Amino acid sequence: MASSSSGPPGGRATNFYQGKPTQRTAPKWADPNNGNLQILLLRATGENVLPTNPFIVRKTITNAVKDFDSARPSRDDKKRMQYVLTSRDEDTIGIFSRGGDRVLNAIEPIYTKAIKLATGAFITSPTSAVMAESGHLPFKYLVTRIITVIRAKNWFKDLTNQELPDICALSTATGRKWNVIPPNVNLDLLKTVRAGDPPPKIKACFNHLTATHFQNKHQVYTDGSVNSDGVGCGIFENRYTGSFSLPPQCSIFSAEAFALLIATQECTHDHLPTVIFSDSASCLQDLLSGNSKHPWIIQTEEAASEKNISYCWVPGHSGILGNTAADKLAGKGSKMEPPVIPCPRTDIVRWVKQQIRESWNIGWLNSPPTHLHQIKNTTLPWFDQNNSKERRVLTRLRIGHTFFTHSHLMKKTERPLCACNSAQVSVRHLLLECQHTKDARVRHNIGQSLRDILSRDETQETNLIAFLKETGFFGKI
Ligand SMILES: [Zn+2]
Repeated sequence: MASSSSGPPGGRATNFYQGKPTQRTAPKWADPNNGNLQILLLRATGENVLPTNPFIVRKTITNAVKDFDSARPSRDDKKRMQYVLTSRDEDTIGIFSRGGDRVLNAIEPIYTKAIKLATGAFITSPTSAVMAESGHLPFKYLVTRIITVIRAKNWFKDLTNQELPDICALSTATGRKWNVIPPNVNLDLLKTVRAGDPPPKIKACFNHLTATHFQNKHQVYTDGSVNSDGVGCGIFENRYTGSFSLPPQCSIFSAEAFALLIATQECTHDHLPTVIFSDSASCLQDLLSGNSKHPWIIQTEEAASEKNISYCWVPGHSGILGNTAADKLAGKGSKMEPPVIPCPRTDIVRWVKQQIRESWNIGWLNSPPTHLHQIKNTTLPWFDQNNSKERRVLTRLRIGHTFFTHSHLMKKTERPLCACNSAQVSVRHLLLECQHTKDARVRHNIGQSLRDILSRDETQETNLIAFLKETGFFGKI
């Protein structure tokens, strides 16, 4: 594309331009089309084996860390990068390393370099902008050393100013024990009641079900609540009502599961046959499945195993009195002071990720303004172009670091003047100011500010790409 046949009409706007950007194709394992990059978790699991993925042969943690550690800087970068990158999987974020800080320090530049390669930014492009543009967590936020709890606590506090809560001792439980009797779970109403059904119809279905299945059983209702006040759950029966507060990290699933657990343990008087109604289909399905890994579901199974208890799904917010009462009690619980109890691991991990994302976002927005700040006010990824060449061009324009504006650095010369002779080359000048490209900008409906032009907007992006191609800049970015 060095030929000027596709150059702008009425002038050789690109005469400052010598040569073209080197074609750097990302290595296969860093190909952004294979999914976004993530950092490999060297997880200290019982199996002592790395997760399988397209790039990594199964290796023990010890061997992987040893290999990583012994790879020479720069020369064996490729080999080392294989240990850092893996396919996109939110659950495998994190690094656990027996090599400690030394290994982590070695991984950081490789991680950063790999993201730059994969996004099409230059190795010399500002790292913080590349990360914010791509939505990939900067390295220091990524290392969720959640396994080494004490270090994790300090690290997490440094980053987010929040305390990492205790991890439930039972969080690693794996499914129902062989000697636990499967609980009796009734999901019939899932088949007969639909969302939007009128309350009288729902009540009729519910009354029919209780009359045919639970006539002489003691009835208990449970519910969970997550709202801006906090997390809580409630239990309602004739002789007993209870409101409970839960740690703020708990999910709605956990709140519902906790209510089932307490109801199973507490609300079974005199060995009466009991039915516990819950409006959480996902909890009851998990309870039925027999392979739940949630500590409170497993404890519920175990507690129910010794008792005469059934569980039954009821639709929430549909006027069933017991359910409404439990809902109110759960809301009351969410306003109470949360207890210090261990939290299920999945909830903590989810919460940690949220907190980390949030503190990175705040850190980015408050950092010294860069070119990208004029365009993007979030660190969430923008998935905007499937074409990797177009995506690379957008990335470079957004961070303001392109071949035609920065190649002079490699030649150690001054930043050149634009062909219009009125200013030095820059992304802003090209897209907003240059008189030579003005007509083409008007023709392609290019916006009036960098934010308009480079935001995630399909029409703007299509117009911009067409404009760049017509003026011959596309291949020079
Ligand atoms: Zn110009």
